[in-house]
Amino acid sequence: MRVIQLAAELAPIAKVGGLGEVIQGLSKELLRSGVDVQIILPRYTALLNHNLILDRHESFSSMGLTHRAWHTEVDGCPVVLIEPNETYDFFQREKIYGYPDDAARFLLFTRLALAYLALHGQAIDILHVHDWHTASATFIIREEKLCPHIGHVLLTIHNLEYQGHAATWDLDRVGLKGASYLTSSKLEDPVLKGTINILKGGLVYADAINAVSKNYAEEILRPEYGFHLDKTLTRYKNKLTGITNGIDADRWNPESDTALPQQYTNSSSIQTILRAKDEAKQVIAKRFNKPMSARPWIGAITRLVPQKGPELLEAAIEFAIRERMAFVLLGSSPIPSMQHHFETIQRTYQSNPNVLLHFEYDDNLAHLLYAAFDMLLVPSHFEPCGLTQLIAMRYGTIPIVRATGGLKDTVFDCQNPLTPREMRNGFVFDEPTATAMNEAIGRARQMYAEEQAAWGALCQKAMRIDSSWRAPAKRYVETYRSLISSRQTRPERAAYTKLSQTDL
Ligand code: ADP
Repeated sequence: MRVIQLAAELAPIAKVGGLGEVIQGLSKELLRSGVDVQIILPRYTALLNHNLILDRHESFSSMGLTHRAWHTEVDGCPVVLIEPNETYDFFQREKIYGYPDDAARFLLFTRLALAYLALHGQAIDILHVHDWHTASATFIIREEKLCPHIGHVLLTIHNLEYQGHAATWDLDRVGLKGASYLTSSKLEDPVLKGTINILKGGLVYADAINAVSKNYAEEILRPEYGFHLDKTLTRYKNKLTGITNGIDADRWNPESDTALPQQYTNSSSIQTILRAKDEAKQVIAKRFNKPMSARPWIGAITRLVPQKGPELLEAAIEFAIRERMAFVLLGSSPIPSMQHHFETIQRTYQSNPNVLLHFEYDDNLAHLLYAAFDMLLVPSHFEPCGLTQLIAMRYGTIPIVRATGGLKDTVFDCQNPLTPREMRNGFVFDEPTATAMNEAIGRARQMYAEEQAAWGALCQKAMRIDSSWRAPAKRYVETYRSLISSRQTRPERAAYTKLSQTDL
């Protein structure tokens, strides 16, 4: 089975959040299970920091210009990096996203990736596209009658909030007839009439769609979570499923994690686990000159955006102080006003020895913190899947989460009598309010202090949960297989007449 992953992120070379980790972890597991998988992403300038070996490239033409496709490997997976012709400055930027021309940038990338794939004409069973960035492949292939060698297209929704708003001329610029897509049954945005919504196009044209957890796949059919695409999703709900993400069990493994001063395993005694956690705390306390190691640590590792409940994170600082806990936040915000706000909070607590707010993207520090924390707080308003709660559990850190999206599928309250005992692994609250959150933190704090044996058992249990990619990758393979065996034949394949390279 030959599968192409078309995406905007890939950990660790181009990672902003969960998307990059999913592409890396899923591809690695697919490869392990015998799938012939290749990842295609843009050649961002920022990649150059990662010492990739880029010694082979192919040239190909599309829309009258010559472009390049570089070959490399990440974690054993073949990767192709698309470098548009030098007349475009789309990927020589500091960041991966956050530019006013993002829609034009990823439309071009997707169009060129398809042109590159057409160059070889080798049969592709599944083109797997991710989020709005590459969702345009669905309608480019179908409406422009391109790439008949691609069997089926699966679209994965990692976050419905981001949809890729564009103008018709953005489509014109990649050789499409933009105006012809501007209808309510195709790409017209349901709210901003007269504009193009790329993700909506993906929902309409994909052969199958999945969201990154079962619960999120159901939530997005409702207006509260649907970001105005709930009606479109409901219309196409027959092709929508949910597959809960995994994590890379090699990358996130306290047994072999070189970022930790002391490794530990899921069969270590609770004393050994707590000692290793304490050593991790001491490294952090020393690095940041905060003598906070004697208290239980609660923290978060997150992008600071409204989705993640920043006002609840802020409220948790005061509560943690009151409860004699240490609070640590590792995060950063793409929203300048939000970043500024958190910097102000940081100044407020600068001299508090039990509060550490650090605003940087630091993978190594994240590893150390997952081990050092006793509890991880995830107070999201919505959460497609969430990886931090899965990673935390692997390090014996107990998640305290709001019951939403994938958090609801993966964390089960350990004091809820209605939850089967074997599933209980954390603390859960329903309402996105400080009162509900603090009640859950308070319960965790109390168990930590007063029921040490129960707490120890909970840590060990959390560490033994299999959140690896093994089961989810199997589900993806099943989804690919059912698409391949479906009798559905795309109309353009019948109507296809061979196009020359320059047409692409
Ligand atoms: P999202 O994709 O919405 O950002 P996820 O929970 O799916 O959220 O994935 C977040 C990933 O990014 C996790 O691996 C987390 O450890 C990592 N992460 C978030 N912020 C930082 C940071 N400041 N430094 C290092 N890693 C971070």
